[in-house]
Amino acid sequence: MRHQVTLIPGDGIGPEISAAMREVVEATGVGIDWHVQQAGAKVMDEEGTPLPERVLDSVRETGTAIKGPVTTPVGSGFRSVNVALRRAFDLYACVRPCTSMPGDGSRYEDVDLVIVRENTEDLYAGIEFEQGSDGARSIMETVASAGAGTIKPDSAISLKPISVSGSERIVRYAFDYARANGRHKVTAVHKANIMKCTDGLFLHTAQRVAEDYPDIAFDAKIVDATCMGLVQNPNDFDVLVLPNLYGDIVSDLCAGLVGGLGLAPGANIGANQAIFEATHGSAPDIAGKDLANPTAMILSAAMMLDHLGEGQAAARIRAAVRSTLQAGDQVTADIRRQLTGSADGAVGTRAYGAAVASAVGALASARRG
Ligand code: NAD
Repeated sequence: MRHQVTLIPGDGIGPEISAAMREVVEATGVGIDWHVQQAGAKVMDEEGTPLPERVLDSVRETGTAIKGPVTTPVGSGFRSVNVALRRAFDLYACVRPCTSMPGDGSRYEDVDLVIVRENTEDLYAGIEFEQGSDGARSIMETVASAGAGTIKPDSAISLKPISVSGSERIVRYAFDYARANGRHKVTAVHKANIMKCTDGLFLHTAQRVAEDYPDIAFDAKIVDATCMGLVQNPNDFDVLVLPNLYGDIVSDLCAGLVGGLGLAPGANIGANQAIFEATHGSAPDIAGKDLANPTAMILSAAMMLDHLGEGQAAARIRAAVRSTLQAGDQVTADIRRQLTGSADGAVGTRAYGAAVASAVGALASARRG
């Protein structure tokens, strides 16, 4: 059976790492029809929107997409294509496993944790009011008339909505994920000591949901203490469930525990669609130079193959990545630099992708033989 998958290569390093990912997935022999759809800044120039309806139609039709990173202008310009996709399909659960691999160049060994990030609410809801706008003025008036304090008149305002329903479904997802994947503990991460209403609601909902899962341990931790705990002893953690913004920040921290952004995969899951993508962004500083590490996108493809019921192919990709990193003679500059302090002897994105694809092919023929 052939699978239908939307491929959004993205921009920056996206096209390079997408090509490497595709070569690796094709080496597994799994039949995939790739529906390639462009999105991002270049598409904005050509079609007047960075996320045309044809991209959404394709994802709606295939139900499964894998995407490279897409650049978001900072401070002004169009809103994030990545956030828009997650919202369009209500991809409420962002799952980011962080697992050590020999040769990953990290300071840590044996890290094995999973971030489950709420993907639709919080400060990422995109409800923002520019400084001096009517909207900002009206919120200031509402706050003052409610006796809830004063906001400086020259302020811009971003809202942080967190709902019971949104918190409940992400915490349930984290517990169900723990059960399905043989994990033992869920930690809810919050700042409810300061944001008593929003983070307090998230925390209380998590405590209530935890009662339905007596077989899985539960604890709750303040986000700043969580960051210190992760750096001091990452093995204290198993599955972490976080509101959107903390989830974003802690994901990058955890990527740093297992070799860096070049190695950290992810999935955005909803009831009807799933979009797989690396944790990292478009890395404009190294784009087009054959320097990017495509592993995060390759491992995101392994998560996608699991999702498509192709678990053996997914396992072969993970084994091929592990053996290529462990051999250490064909790794990209980011890994080489962490291992030796210099990029000397590193290979490029294409050569690394080809090495992993060839390891996948070798594992497939060993299995047949
Ligand atoms: P980034 O993740 O692109 O880069 C941070 C650092 O990590 C850079 O030094 C970069 O060179 C390095 N890096 C990232 N991926 C790498 C890889 N695969 N191999 C080797 N090195 C890698 O973060 P940024 O610079 O803050 O963001 C750049 C752009 O990406 C921004 O426009 C941002 O909005 C966007 N972004 C997109 C996504 C997404 O598409 N899901 C996620 C995060 C950021």
